[in-house]
Amino acid sequence: LIQLSNVRKSFGSLEVLRGVDLQVRAGEVCCVIGPSGCGKSTLLRCINHLERVDAGEVLVDGQRIGYRRIGNRLVELPEREIAKQRAEIGMVFQRFNLFPHLTVLENLLEAPTRVRGEPREQVRERARQLLDRVGLAAKEDAYPAQLSGGQQQRVAIARALAMRPKVMLFDEPTSALDPELVGDVLATMRDLAADGMTMLVVTHEIGFAREVANTLVFMADGDIVERGDPRRVIAEPEHERTRAFLSKVL
Ligand code: ATP
Ligand code: MG
Repeated sequence: LIQLSNVRKSFGSLEVLRGVDLQVRAGEVCCVIGPSGCGKSTLLRCINHLERVDAGEVLVDGQRIGYRRIGNRLVELPEREIAKQRAEIGMVFQRFNLFPHLTVLENLLEAPTRVRGEPREQVRERARQLLDRVGLAAKEDAYPAQLSGGQQQRVAIARALAMRPKVMLFDEPTSALDPELVGDVLATMRDLAADGMTMLVVTHEIGFAREVANTLVFMADGDIVERGDPRRVIAEPEHERTRAFLSKVL
């Protein structure tokens, strides 16, 4: 469902992604680990065209993200088309960035009504179900500032799901949370995976990766060093760099 081929990205002279190939099949969970600065966030941002790739291609559900081929030229899609593509790709960041002036429920209604033009009544129904699913039905009238970090992050997940995305991208969704709040967010993500959502998750939660991921990817210096069954990668890393990294985070 997500397919990256030879994706390259530089910022000035800094090569951040050096020809990354990655596939996540429908219903699978892929976790990405790797040292700070190796390009994990940039990789996710390339998938929904928050960053333009310099070379290579990104496909989501068979659709090329950000560009269309006309003859043998690649033309960037108009902003409106890109917005449509992004609507299929849910993203959850380290910082939950909810709209602070909107209630929890209103946060969920915003994108589907504005971007998709769905009737408010119809979205409200779905939004309530999603809040129930992340265990926050009772908080629909609260404002983000009245919630704990973990609750805010679960609202952020529900908000992304309200758009009915085909895939979900997570960028270190628990790393800004107090340790005691991490578990609830991971449990929500685990439920989502069990429901068959296709997920690409940058995380340092090795336990989550081991239990939930179908594939674990280790990145370093802008490329994938090693990938495979998470239990195998964690127990018997093939590369010295993977071993060194795991020994620091385990
Ligand atoms: P972390 O684990 O700390 O979040 P990361 O693996 O997510 O790191 P990225 O955020 O993808 O790393 O950054 C990779 C490199 O690209 C870093 O050296 C970073 O400074 C650089 N970089 C990222 N975004 C930009 C930008 N917009 N302009 C210039 N350099 C950037
Ligand atoms: Mg990052």
